[in-house]
Amino acid sequence: MTLLLVLACIGKPGAGDDSGVAADDMLSRESWVDSSNRDGMIEIPVELDGSASAFMVSVESDYYPVLETLTGPDGRTVLTWEDWYDSDNSLTYAFFWGTKAMAFNWPVREVDGPLAAGTWTVGVAMIDGSGFYANNVDAEVIVHRKADPDLAQGQVRARIVWAQGQGQDPDVVAAAEQAVERWREVWAMHGLTLVESWHDSELSSNLGFADSGSAKVEENAERFDGRELILVLGESISGASDTYGIAGGIPGSIEPNLNSHVTVAWLAHAGTNGNFNDDEIRLMGETMAHECGHFMGLFHPVEWNYDAWDALDDTEDCRTWQSCENKLGENLMFPYPICDWSSCAPQPDLTGQQKGVSQRYIGAL
Ligand SMILES: [Zn+2]
Repeated sequence: MTLLLVLACIGKPGAGDDSGVAADDMLSRESWVDSSNRDGMIEIPVELDGSASAFMVSVESDYYPVLETLTGPDGRTVLTWEDWYDSDNSLTYAFFWGTKAMAFNWPVREVDGPLAAGTWTVGVAMIDGSGFYANNVDAEVIVHRKADPDLAQGQVRARIVWAQGQGQDPDVVAAAEQAVERWREVWAMHGLTLVESWHDSELSSNLGFADSGSAKVEENAERFDGRELILVLGESISGASDTYGIAGGIPGSIEPNLNSHVTVAWLAHAGTNGNFNDDEIRLMGETMAHECGHFMGLFHPVEWNYDAWDALDDTEDCRTWQSCENKLGENLMFPYPICDWSSCAPQPDLTGQQKGVSQRYIGAL
């Protein structure tokens, strides 16, 4: 195995007393360049000393990295793609082919943890554009660990980035600022503290699909610290008038890469008249919280066709639109807003297990 350490830790794991540990000290990062073996696999060692509450492995390449297995320090297989690939329940997108930048956050659920000390191994297959295993191809591997003993409260830093020229319209700016207050309010209900800053950019106001991968996404993300979520506010997404937002991954990487942002389209919220009312602003704030929820590892509790679900026990596995809207319609991660002719119903809720997923995300410190 080629193992070339190019960047050492930029933070030290915190001591046991969380009250005295700054968020920066909870997160550590290391990266190296590795290459796939004869079987097309990269076996990534993640060494844990017992203080880590979660880790993230990000892999970026000219090929398509796909998670196959996770092996614990005792040699036991903890997770395998075969259990999840055809499942009606979704745990992580890391199993799926289609992006050149993979992110895997572990543990996802309470039942998946806590993390034993020792060397964990993340088995990642390198797949080519035709779906075949690729031998001897290089990839950048990044491992983040967090030592955050408090999984009930987390601080999340967010960079809110205007697409080109979008931060100039005072009415849109005012609506976005109020929407962020709704985002903050919703997250505060679930122990997440939003710490945001605003930035301009040259990104197109007609945003691309964030999960399709773009060098511009990476370029934009590299302006920042590499330990925050990036939310880009544009006019529309791929020209659609009804796409509210898109997340670059479930989860998305905390490392700047081709997919590391979420996008929110303001015009889809404002509607055809282009003016915001209070309900539309609230909905935009909930879209911000929803898309960042995806980025932090949350799937929809039920998907659009009511035939696929998340992997959590406390979100109802409903099967019809009526029962799903009744039981989950107020959930933040419901796949669509429920509206009548005049307005949409608030959707601020997360279940206990959904909160747990978001708190285990590497960027919730
Ligand atoms: Zn969604």
